[in-house]
Amino acid sequence: MATIIDGKKISAEIKEELKEKVEQLKEAGAEGTLAVIQVGDDPASGVYVRNKKKACAYIGLHSQSFELPEETTQKELLDLIERLNRDDAVNGILVQLPVPAHIDEKTVINAISPDKDVDGFHPQSVGSLTIGQPGFVSCTPAGIIELLKRSGVEMDGKHCVIVGRSNIVGKPMALLMLRENATVTVAHSHTRQLQELCRTADILIVAVGRKEFITGDYVRPGAVVIDVGIHRDEDNHLFGDVKYDEAFEKASMITPVPGGVGPMTIAMLMHNCVEAMTR
Ligand code: NDP
Repeated sequence: MATIIDGKKISAEIKEELKEKVEQLKEAGAEGTLAVIQVGDDPASGVYVRNKKKACAYIGLHSQSFELPEETTQKELLDLIERLNRDDAVNGILVQLPVPAHIDEKTVINAISPDKDVDGFHPQSVGSLTIGQPGFVSCTPAGIIELLKRSGVEMDGKHCVIVGRSNIVGKPMALLMLRENATVTVAHSHTRQLQELCRTADILIVAVGRKEFITGDYVRPGAVVIDVGIHRDEDNHLFGDVKYDEAFEKASMITPVPGGVGPMTIAMLMHNCVEAMTR
């Protein structure tokens, strides 16, 4: 039976620490403002944006909200980003993804100044992470490292298997794990014998985007299991990428869904905003 890694508790601790840091920075005369841009009225995006603004208010940062209609052109969005890039009062810029299909996501990400890229998605941020230079780190993988560290999980020399190679989770996760001196294997949809591979993991991180895909048979007894997935059924119940009950029996530690990785993403976004304010 596993110990549960409590992401809600750890994210609350981080937000308290950040709140104190913001107070100190304010005493020294600094102000922090996050600009949040949402294009269209996707309900899930609306919830994420509201939670991000709430977190800003909690730790003492200002937030500016730009709710643009679905038919906003790419040029209009890029003009707004350019204006915010030049605005010294704005430290961080976030465009809530996904953007509508007529707007190219990559172009939008590339338009955000790397100095204000608190999501850590800009190619310069990713490049800096790759070669070990300072820069903003993608929030979900950064949050997983915090979860592991604050739960006392040793990463040095351990075998970490990451299932998924997306730009926002799998790939940056692999780079962060390397930074922690883990031996890293990244699996994806072309990987052969995934189950056997996962069973060699001391730390198994799953970001596959398929509901309860990883069953207990994929988990080595005593492994640490981190479930990034979020899936909602018709009754609004949340599920992860891992079949929790089965993995729970085998793992030494496990993150639940909800209450595991999810709350850490916003906490690390706030961490990046405070970092931007410090700069
Ligand atoms: P993507 O869909 O971008 O990536 C999924 C990855 O899984 C791909 O690399 C894909 O491989 C791989 N994959 C798909 N099927 C298989 C398979 N059968 N075997 C092995 N690998 C497979 O997802 P994201 O990384 O964006 O997100 C993953 C999950 O995490 C989602 O459920 C998402 O909702 C959730 N999420 C949660 C966050 C949080 O805050 N908790 C934040 C971000 C995401 P290939 O590259 O070959 O196609």
